[in-house]
Amino acid sequence: MKADIKSWNQEELGEFLISLGEKPFRAKQIYPWLHVKHVESFEEMTDISNKLKEKLTNSCELTVLKQVKVQQSKLDGTRKYLFALADGNMIESVLMGYHHGNSVCISSQVGCRMGCKFCASTLDGRVRNLTPGEMLDQIYRIQREIGERVSHVVVMGMGEPLDNYENLLKFIQLLSDENGMNISQRNITVSTCGIVPNMRRLAEEKLQITLALSLHGATQKKRQELMPIAKKYEIHQVVEACEYYFQRTGRRITFEYSLVGGTNDGEEDARQLSRLISGMNCHVNLIPVNPIKEQNYVQPDQKSVLNFKNKLEKYGINVTIRREMGRDIEGACGQLRKRFSERQGEG
Ligand code: SAH
Repeated sequence: MKADIKSWNQEELGEFLISLGEKPFRAKQIYPWLHVKHVESFEEMTDISNKLKEKLTNSCELTVLKQVKVQQSKLDGTRKYLFALADGNMIESVLMGYHHGNSVCISSQVGCRMGCKFCASTLDGRVRNLTPGEMLDQIYRIQREIGERVSHVVVMGMGEPLDNYENLLKFIQLLSDENGMNISQRNITVSTCGIVPNMRRLAEEKLQITLALSLHGATQKKRQELMPIAKKYEIHQVVEACEYYFQRTGRRITFEYSLVGGTNDGEEDARQLSRLISGMNCHVNLIPVNPIKEQNYVQPDQKSVLNFKNKLEKYGINVTIRREMGRDIEGACGQLRKRFSERQGEG
C-alpha cells in the first residue's frame, strides 16, 4: 500500500524524503502545498521538479475527497457536504457561518458503533476509521470551495472520535500546526459519548482543545436507555473523567444534552442534571432532538425547552440552547449519507 502523505507532520515528511534519496529541506517546500494551499494533485506543486513529482506519485497517496453533493440551508446558509473517500465510502461534513468565523463540523469514522438511540450515524454500524488526512481534507476542501478561512473545527459529525484515538490525536496536531492550517487548539472541540479511559488519556496530552461530553441523561438509568455505551462507563465515572480533564487542562467542559420529548426533558430531569454537575466549571448545550425516521423520538415543544433552560439557570448552571442549523437539509448527524445510500439502493 502507498504511504499517506497528508497524515504526516513536517518531520515525518522529511524522513520520508530522505528515504527517497531527497534532501530533507524539500519537506519545507512540499508541506505547505499540502497543508496551506491544499492542492489536489502533485502536479500543482510548481516549485518541485518533475522527477520528484513522479517519485511522489509512485510512492504516495494524496488524499483528496470528492464532493458528491452539497446542500445549502435556505434558513441559515449552513452547507452540508457529502464526500466520497478513495475507497467509495461516504462521509458528511457541515459548514456553519457564525459571527466569530466559519466553523466546520467533521466526521471521524465511516459510520459508528456506539449505538446511541436517536442518532442516524450509528444505524448501520462502523465501517472504518478515518485517517488524519481524511479528517483534515474535509476542512481543506471546504475552505478551498468557499474561498474563505475556516477558523473553528468541531469533531461532532459521524463517528466517535475517541474510538479512533491515535488518528484523532495526529489530526489535532496537524490541524493546529503553525506551518500548516494553524487553527488554534482553543478553536477545536472534540465531542465524545464518554469513553472514559480515552478521556483521561486525552487529559494528559497537554492540548488546549475543548472536550464536549454527550450526557443526554442525568441519571445512570436514563442515560443508558439512550446510550448503550453508558452500560460500560457509568455516569459518575464519566463526570469524574470530565472533572479530571478540567483539572489537567484548565479547559471548561461542555455537556451536550439532547432533549427528547417526554424522555429526559422534565423538571425532575433538570433538577437531577444540575445536581450532577453543580460546582463544575462547565457549560450545558441543549439540543432539541432532531427526529430520525428510524426511531420515533419527538422534539419537545419550545416551551418545555425554555422551561428546562430556565430551571438549569435557576440552579446556577451556564446553559445555552444550540441554535438549530440546517434543519431543512437533513442536518442531524448521518442523515444525509443514510438517505443517499438508500436512494442509491432504490436506483
Ligand atoms: N460520537 C460523538 C459525536 C456525535 S455527534 C458523541 O457522541 O459526542 C454530536 C452530538 O449530536 C452528540 O451529542 C450526539 O449525541 C448528538 N446527536 C446525534 N444525533 C442527534 C439527533 N438526531 N438529535 C439531536 N442530537 C443528536
